[in-house]
Amino acid sequence: MTTRSAAWHTATVVASRAETATARRIELDVPTWPGNEAGSHLDVRLTAPDGYQASRSYSIASAGPGTRIVLAVDEVPDGEVSPFLVHDLRDGDRIEVHGPLGAFFVWRPSDDPAPVQLIAGGSGIVPLFAMASAHAASADETPFRLLYSVRSPDDVFFADELATLIDDRFVLDLVYTRRAPADAERAPGRLTSDSLRAAVVPAEQQPRVFVCGPTPFVEAVAGWLLEAGHSSARIRTERFGGS
Ligand SMILES: Cc1cc2nc3c(=O)[nH]c(=O)nc-3n(C[C@H](O)[C@H](O)[C@H](O)COP(=O)(O)OP(=O)(O)OC[C@H]3O[C@@H](n4cnc5c(N)ncnc54)[C@H](O)[C@@H]3O)c2cc1C
Repeated sequence: MTTRSAAWHTATVVASRAETATARRIELDVPTWPGNEAGSHLDVRLTAPDGYQASRSYSIASAGPGTRIVLAVDEVPDGEVSPFLVHDLRDGDRIEVHGPLGAFFVWRPSDDPAPVQLIAGGSGIVPLFAMASAHAASADETPFRLLYSVRSPDDVFFADELATLIDDRFVLDLVYTRRAPADAERAPGRLTSDSLRAAVVPAEQQPRVFVCGPTPFVEAVAGWLLEAGHSSARIRTERFGGS
């Protein structure tokens, strides 16, 4: 895929719906969009009637050459931008977006036969979902495994789509931190160094690892991966902020 240069575009909201109790899936039509790789993000810029502007980054849940792009935004209570995107944006509204951005945190089919391990915390699933979907749509035989940490079953983004991706090339491991389904094998609780090690492709297989989520989650996971013997050169991270 050729490198696409980032530019400002006008995007129109064409559809949106609740993704979870706190998050919204937003589909945008961007006629000038050059397409994007799986894992890219963009900047959204909002302008108030008095000219005040605020911009934030959002990963793109979709990938490929199309001009329709999908975002999934989780509300950060008391945040400046995310509550507006989750509650106030309406079909037909126009917003400015700058992108595609992020050439480092992307997955594309490659000659590297090593497995790919994706690790998401909360809304950090967005770029990893794009990677898993792009992988499923490709002929790439690389085994993919996704470890996804969420508070409860109600907080799973892309739940139906993820379920349909599961096959002999894609394994999904869900970890519930606060409430697990009745039939869950594991009691709810945060990931630990040991539980992470048990649920990811072992270091000896030298997987490529993509980690995304709130900054404290990403930093904890990256540290545990290094302790478990994973090479820093094989780990790519994207931090969504928060402390
Ligand atoms: C590359 C990139 C991609 C991102 N993709 C997504 C995405 O796909 N979906 C998504 O929902 N968010 C994503 N984010 C986070 C997003 O950019 C905003 O930070 C988030 O929506 C909060 O913005 P806000 O204006 O509502 O909060 P702000 O007004 O910026 O912050 C309010 C308070 O919340 C804290 N905070 C900020 N961000 C977070 C966070 N992510 N988690 C917890 N606390 C936070 C701040 O420290 C501050 O105390 C991404 C961030 C980056 C850097």
